[in-house]
Amino acid sequence: MTEKACRQCHLISQGSTCPDCKNTSLSDDFSGVVIILDPKDSAIAHAMKVEKKGRYALRVR
Ligand SMILES: [Zn+2]
Repeated sequence: MTEKACRQCHLISQGSTCPDCKNTSLSDDFSGVVIILDPKDSAIAHAMKVEKKGRYALRVR
């Protein structure tokens, strides 16, 4: 299965719809995977406006 990143919230998933924001605009052209385990205590999560734990792409094209 090809992983894709959501263009809106940057969450990485394997479906054609983002499981978080339900956006269908996903891209398989992404880079810089970060795993956020504790969104409340993560500067990266704060910078990316991530509120849920998971795997996110820093850059989505
Ligand atoms: Zn999303």
